[in-house]
Amino acid sequence: MKRKTRQREIIKHLFQSEGRPLNPLEILSLAKYSFSGLSLATVYRAIKELVEEEWLITVEVPGLSLYYEINHHQHHHHFYCSACRKVFEVEGCVPVDGLTPKGFLLESHEILLSGRCSGCIPS
Ligand SMILES: [Zn+2]
Ligand SMILES: [Zn+2]
Repeated sequence: MKRKTRQREIIKHLFQSEGRPLNPLEILSLAKYSFSGLSLATVYRAIKELVEEEWLITVEVPGLSLYYEINHHQHHHHFYCSACRKVFEVEGCVPVDGLTPKGFLLESHEILLSGRCSGCIPS
């Protein structure tokens, strides 16, 4: 039980310190430095629990495995770097109402920006 709690704390701390959405493989490779006994199965189990508790929510990037991020209850979008495959949170939104066809009722939208992050642009 104590071990399990520690694993969860390490994973939570990772999300807080990285400050961006992470996928299970990224979590595993980042957490390995501080917790060598971690396995992918353990990471998946901890994520599942944190999603059930609504501490984490899923981030879908088409064609890729699921990413997860801290649930801060604020509308936002994401930027996907096609070079390092990291996903970043983008604050705010754009006016999408104008795109809605006349007579239609807009209920939700998805926007994914993609390209290269600042670390992946050759100088
Ligand atoms: Zn990048
Ligand atoms: Zn939006």
